[in-house]
Amino acid sequence: MKSYRKELWFNTNTRLAFINITGEVEKCIRESGVSEGFVLVNAMHITASVFINDDESGLHHDYANWLEKLAPHSPIEQYRHNDSGEDNADAHMKRQLMGREVVVAITAGKLDFGPWEQIFYGEFDGRRNKRVLVKIIGE
Ligand code: ZN
Repeated sequence: MKSYRKELWFNTNTRLAFINITGEVEKCIRESGVSEGFVLVNAMHITASVFINDDESGLHHDYANWLEKLAPHSPIEQYRHNDSGEDNADAHMKRQLMGREVVVAITAGKLDFGPWEQIFYGEFDGRRNKRVLVKIIGE
């Protein structure tokens, strides 16, 4: 069995961002030499997500609005988490809604996706260095 590990780094210039990382994951699969197996992709921070959906700008706009309605950033005093002096309680909530990780099958050396599926990094407390783990196992 082959095993591969890589960290992808991000530093978004906005607090909230959605980045299509499918190409980077495909590059990792090529580097791994795995043709049959699984790839795990997870955010390594508790205020960021990895998720799968459509690469459609209207949808990303809708996600941003939906998340802001469910977990508004301000007033920051509404969250007990922010009593500690932080201001990112909303980002923890948004990450919980959008999830931590995805697992995708690798078949014949490619991501075995359904129609329109793409992998995204979701950032909810950006403007600093953050990581995503890519772990691949298989043969
Ligand atoms: Zn926090």
